[in-house]
Amino acid sequence: MEPASLYAYFLKHPAISTDTRNIQPQSLFFALKGEHFNGNAFAAEALEKGASYVIIDEAQYQTDDRFLLVPDVLTALHDLARHHRDQLQIPFIGITGTNGKTTTKELIHAVLSQQFNTYATKGNLNNHIGVPLTILSISRQTEIAIIEMGANHIGEIAFLCGIAQPTHGLITNVGKAHLEGFGSFDGVKKAKGELYDYLSAHRGTLFLQHDNPLLREMAAARDIEHIITYGYSPDNQLVGELIAASPLLELKWASSGSTAPHRVRTQLTGSYNTENILAAACIGLYFGLSPEKINQGIAGYQPNNNRSQLTKTAHNTVIRDYYNANASSMAAALENLRMLKGDKKVVILGDMFELGEDSYEEHGKIAAQACSVDASRIILVGKAFYQHRHTGAEFYATTEEAAEALRRHPIQGALILLKASRGMAFEKLVDIL
Ligand code: ATP
Ligand code: MG
Repeated sequence: MEPASLYAYFLKHPAISTDTRNIQPQSLFFALKGEHFNGNAFAAEALEKGASYVIIDEAQYQTDDRFLLVPDVLTALHDLARHHRDQLQIPFIGITGTNGKTTTKELIHAVLSQQFNTYATKGNLNNHIGVPLTILSISRQTEIAIIEMGANHIGEIAFLCGIAQPTHGLITNVGKAHLEGFGSFDGVKKAKGELYDYLSAHRGTLFLQHDNPLLREMAAARDIEHIITYGYSPDNQLVGELIAASPLLELKWASSGSTAPHRVRTQLTGSYNTENILAAACIGLYFGLSPEKINQGIAGYQPNNNRSQLTKTAHNTVIRDYYNANASSMAAALENLRMLKGDKKVVILGDMFELGEDSYEEHGKIAAQACSVDASRIILVGKAFYQHRHTGAEFYATTEEAAEALRRHPIQGALILLKASRGMAFEKLVDIL
């Protein structure tokens, strides 16, 4: 079946399902294959549960004309998303980067939806399945789309750009993450740079954090027609400054040449979020929003996803940041804690996953940096940190052991940074704090 003919079904059945535990009524069910399952085997169940048609790629499962046979289900999903994208003549803002993609995406969404009908990636649906599903959720009423794109390997961003066809884009930053998949830091640079390659080849517009030397160098190495800059130095088109982090951030920003800066109080913690906020302001200005509307969007954004989320518990104030972790976001979070005012600080860090052969060294560096924060307790949790247990901190091999130790010796009246890769299940610690 050709993408165009599948599109006729999609127009009548615009809801998409991929999981039989969650079938949308009258949807198209894509029978994707995973490591441990074959979606074809669930196709009949999907129909029973209310899907209108199922897209399969194994003929033996086809029992009636509601089974649409394609050569490859995942490819059919990609082709359908690309075809739908082609019909939408609206700006698509593509976002990638090592850290801060989701936060930046949510902020841009919060800003632009003050004036436009905006659709942004839900949650973290940023891979080869999430991006096409995101695109297929965009209705004809949408005026601007914001697409988060993630990658663990070289070539993925180029592939996702081929589907999403961003007209505008930004890389939040380039740091050390997923080194296993990328091979090296140069690999990370190349992979993220694929967004710049796409913008360059398609005469797109780049929003550039111009004070980030790596991003500046990557942009200069390509021929990109339209570049809009934001950052801290006065030569940027949007210039911003962090004025308070106590621990919620307060900023001022102005467009270049203007003498009257605009102030905004945010509900975000983590000084690294400053540039995520400036990106959103820059994009708001570019799309013609007034500074007031931009600030309304920024001030109204409340993170609720364990990314830099500030929570008051019974006894402490906790910076919950255990949605993910890698060497660069850990370093940024520790630096942020070091800068914050507060009599009593506590650091609780868990292992960073997927660092490959750099894991031992990077955990050692972060352990040393953690010990340089003036904290009343430094607690490092997980097998990788445990290998560095000679440094002056408390070490536990598992989150359960750390929880046990915190029950025995509770923390009171402190500002606590809680950060780890998601697999460490640090949510278990919040109740104890
Ligand atoms: P993922 O790869 O899981 O999709 P992401 O790139 O979407 O991650 P976020 O979920 O927005 O990133 O943020 C994850 C964490 O990264 C934050 O909680 C924070 O610790 C860190 N972070 C966010 N923005 C920045 C930044 N600009 N620089 C460094 N670290 C950041
Ligand atoms: Mg994300």
